[in-house]
Amino acid sequence: MTAACSVRVRGVVQGVGFRPFVFRLARANTLAGWVKNGDDGVEIHLEGAAGAMRSFLRDLRDQPPPAARITGIEVRQGALAGLADFTIRESLRRGRPSVPIAPDLAVCDDCVAELFDPANPRHGYPYINCTNCGPRLTIVLDLPYDRHRTTMRDWPLDERCATEFHDQQNRRFHAQPVACPRCGPSHRVVADGREVQGDAASIRETARRLTAGQIVAIKGLGGFHLVCDARNAASVNTLRTRKFRKEKPFALMARDLSVARQIVDVSEEEAALLTSVARPIVLLRARALLAAVAPDQDELGVMLPSTPLHHLLFAAGAPNLLVMTSGNRSSEPIAYDDDDALARLSGLADAFLIGQRPIARRVDDSVVRIGRRGPVILRRARGYAPDAVATLPAGRPILGLGADLKSAITLVVEGQAFVSQHIGDLNDARSLRAFQETVRDFVSMYDVRWDDLLVVHDRHPDYASTRYAADLPVSQTLAVQHHRAHVASVLAERGAWHQRVLGVALDGTGYGDDASVWGGELFVGSVVEGFERVASLRAAALPGGDAAARHPSQAAAGFLYAIEGLPDLTAAPFALPARYTQALRLIERGVRTFTTTSMGRLFDAAAALLGFTREITFEGQAAMWVEQLARRATTVEPYPFPFDGRELDYRPLLLALAWDRAGGRNPAEIARAFHGGVALGVCQAALTLCDRHRLDRVVLSGGVCQNDLLMRLIEDRLGQSPHQVWTNHNVPPNDGGVSLGQAAIGALTDHDRSV
Ligand code: ZN
Ligand code: FE
Repeated sequence: MTAACSVRVRGVVQGVGFRPFVFRLARANTLAGWVKNGDDGVEIHLEGAAGAMRSFLRDLRDQPPPAARITGIEVRQGALAGLADFTIRESLRRGRPSVPIAPDLAVCDDCVAELFDPANPRHGYPYINCTNCGPRLTIVLDLPYDRHRTTMRDWPLDERCATEFHDQQNRRFHAQPVACPRCGPSHRVVADGREVQGDAASIRETARRLTAGQIVAIKGLGGFHLVCDARNAASVNTLRTRKFRKEKPFALMARDLSVARQIVDVSEEEAALLTSVARPIVLLRARALLAAVAPDQDELGVMLPSTPLHHLLFAAGAPNLLVMTSGNRSSEPIAYDDDDALARLSGLADAFLIGQRPIARRVDDSVVRIGRRGPVILRRARGYAPDAVATLPAGRPILGLGADLKSAITLVVEGQAFVSQHIGDLNDARSLRAFQETVRDFVSMYDVRWDDLLVVHDRHPDYASTRYAADLPVSQTLAVQHHRAHVASVLAERGAWHQRVLGVALDGTGYGDDASVWGGELFVGSVVEGFERVASLRAAALPGGDAAARHPSQAAAGFLYAIEGLPDLTAAPFALPARYTQALRLIERGVRTFTTTSMGRLFDAAAALLGFTREITFEGQAAMWVEQLARRATTVEPYPFPFDGRELDYRPLLLALAWDRAGGRNPAEIARAFHGGVALGVCQAALTLCDRHRLDRVVLSGGVCQNDLLMRLIEDRLGQSPHQVWTNHNVPPNDGGVSLGQAAIGALTDHDRSV
């Protein structure tokens, strides 16, 4: 018996080889009909036997193409049209598109095989791709995703590429960026005012220069990388000097897994992440010391080749382990435009390897670590953005502007929350411009009207993103407190709008309800009803305000001022610098002194007491330093960090720490006891409050949750209780996840108040 049905598939289903997959599936099941890209997904019409349709639908759900992510399949009865064949139909743009753009995908195995097959027409061609792989977000200019709306629009297909592009059986059927050496863009090397033209010649030239110890700026998918031989300490140090990057670790690219394993430990789970289509930078335990690459670090950030160009460079003899860091000076955004890169990076790079294909928007490398319960994304960009990370019950479009550090925005369209790539720190003027560009980019790409938008921003009155919100031509804005947004981001990932939880924000800095600097907060509530702050870290002084975040000794003064019976901290082994005593005087006189409950500053204070007394050179450095130190010791008795039902008291914690250090105890053991104490205190507070408020779910978020050791200690302990622990997995626990939480609160609260 012949029947007809229509199927609508939602999720990441465009630009990922979905239509050819549907086509093959329909043919295999001898079904007639058609498939096309619609405004909100893929639409399929099927005619044939009911049994064949069932098996079609099962395979559709169970075996989608590797890069596709289906969020919903809707099946309805259709009208029989008596079709004889199955075809792929052209897409028409009708209303507002809410189909997600796919993230950029690592080159697939089939394409790599062709790349190194001398008989293949795309042998050695750095822009090889197919429907299963290649660029997406970084080439899309507008939606829906079609070649003439990508940065490949200036390269018309030659006959061979066109044939493959139109052949429904071909792996390149409707592969929008398809190209070959005859019709597509090519590469050149620019150095010392001269140029080397052509893909093969410029790749050879680049490999030669890298081997010789030079620094080459290489145009990648989402921007320029600065690249050099990771095992050549002189090159790496030169790169540090030129980039004004004193200590922050550099990311590495290893030729393959076996090279990676020479320098880091790689578990099976980590190997799967390294080789996943997103190909992120994965933080891994170091086996070998690469002092210049990551000073003072026992973790190295490593990625594997993700573009054909990377494979070709290694094949052409480039060193098998490369430093590959974003092409910028310290806090600026990554350069992605050729002229801009040539201008801004000219003092940094000895040569430039430039591909002709323009980059539509800058996208950095993503950074991920395997935590106790799966991947934790620390920077969400290439390979992940702009995937929808959650479905929100939103009746109108919502824009979450995030925080000023680790900025990322969230745009909610038709209930789907698209989170942008990592943008950077908005106190840098170029990053602020990048932020504004990203907002405009998202709003126009998804065809959202400004006056329909609800804009949600941080409550901090001096955030650049807050001021930006005030200037937008929108009818409604909502201010959301930073740490409530952190907690809501976890619940948004799970679609748990009504779930009452104990929300724990362990964070560096966020503007509190009382205008003080919050960062160690415990909340009770849900996204729908709101979050009431029920407890926090005991308040400490914050002398000098924001400067205290850069000087651990200054942060230490704020905490230690309130503690009696300390050893002399200006003497050995502490030798806290003059900044410490000056900060104490500020507090005494009440000059430029604020109040804080920041967990991040508590870690800074511990770092200062353990010997990190200089200024930090990148955000979170002191806390990372204490964590590294603690990893060198095994389990020890935790320091006391008592909870009285309202406050976590840091005084016994720091007092014990200080006297142990004065007594000459091994600093690694002290750092470990400090971590143990913080974990124990947080867990006791969480369990006490869960008891009091009859809750069985603990949500943890905030920048301090990037501390892997602390999280493992907390999760181990809470894991022994009947309580469930929820943390971030789709967005970062740091401020990169704040915009999702803002959007969620915006979607579910009454907008006439700030929360
Ligand atoms: Zn491919
Ligand atoms: Fe935060």
